[in-house]
Amino acid sequence: MPFDNVKFRQQFPYFQQENTAVYLDSAATTLKPQVLIDATTDFYLLGGSVHRSQYEEKQTALYEQARTQVKELIHAESENAVIWTSGCTHGINLVANGLLHQFCPQDEIIITTAEHHANFVPWQQLAKKSGAKLVILPVEKDGMIDEQALAQVLNSRTKLVALNWVSNITGTKQSIASLIPLIRQKSTALVLVDAAQAICHFPIDLQTADIDFISFSAHKFYGPTGLGVLSGKLTALEQLQPLMFGGKMVEQVSNSTSRFSKLPYRLEAGTPNTAAVIVFCAVLTWFRQWDQIAMEKYTQSLAKQIVTRLQNYALCRIFSSPQSSILSFVFEHIENSDLATLLAEQNIAIRVGKHCAEPYINHLNLQGTLRISLAPYNNQQDIDNFFTALDKALSLLEIE
Ligand code: PMP
Repeated sequence: MPFDNVKFRQQFPYFQQENTAVYLDSAATTLKPQVLIDATTDFYLLGGSVHRSQYEEKQTALYEQARTQVKELIHAESENAVIWTSGCTHGINLVANGLLHQFCPQDEIIITTAEHHANFVPWQQLAKKSGAKLVILPVEKDGMIDEQALAQVLNSRTKLVALNWVSNITGTKQSIASLIPLIRQKSTALVLVDAAQAICHFPIDLQTADIDFISFSAHKFYGPTGLGVLSGKLTALEQLQPLMFGGKMVEQVSNSTSRFSKLPYRLEAGTPNTAAVIVFCAVLTWFRQWDQIAMEKYTQSLAKQIVTRLQNYALCRIFSSPQSSILSFVFEHIENSDLATLLAEQNIAIRVGKHCAEPYINHLNLQGTLRISLAPYNNQQDIDNFFTALDKALSLLEIE
């Protein structure tokens, strides 16, 4: 069945409001469907917390149902392998801190130049604290990891490899399915995949992808802010020392010692973000009716059209990938921020700057980029509006 963009767009009350911007910044955060707003109201009409008292059975059941939904979404090993976090950044930090006790100065950590700061700085910190070596693998001109180059830096000292699945600047999708066997062949490293920009775009199957840790945020997948998921193999998650200590993560506490709970609670100290979890559950139930592959095909066709139209501007340099709905561009002789301001004044919402990936922006020899990121609620009119605004901005800047 072809994807019905009109029906999908109708799910988002953003579009029913007056004077909203043409929203082309879904990689920052997606718009929210009506189901999220309804579930938020429903939740706050109920009282209580979860997992604390008998009277909160309904909330606790919904809360745990959300874990099952996520397990099914990414085909995780079990509900126990679904850890609630505050977002993708929190999940990666949980891993980097949780493994600190295992690292020593002889160890090596591999990341790429194309990482978001969330998948860069935690490893830089781990290297600093443990004395381990941080190896930063440059990506190729097309944004892809060169397998031969990766093979050369992998060795028996490599203890962890952390990679993004999809770049938040160019939308480049790494071939995780062929990179992981290579990592396994050359090392015993644990593999962490930053799926922040992947989760919204294609189905993830942890039963076939041999990933030790995976982290993503709900807010980039039509869900609420303040919530994320850390998942992966139970054997890997069990190696993590908790980052936070307190209620729910302990089974028994005495004056001198504490016995920690089993997964997932061991890594979830304190009152959880119950509202966000329960609301995300409603969003995931709603999402099941849509064909993610057909949606992505539609979104990529819009992105392809944007790239083709941008190519008509002689001074425009584009950084994109053929199978993506995220793309960056710059105009020679124009400050990115000037162009972004003129576009914002015309109600076009796109992102400008270094996109929390400064090492990658430096690697590309740029000051920053303008970034367009699409979702299946975007339509032809959004694209045409963008180009009308772009032409006007360029004429104001006296560039045709
Ligand atoms: N990794 C990538 C590739 C991202 O795009 C982002 C968000 N921009 C993150 C990690 C961090 O996500 P969050 O801020 O939701 O924790």
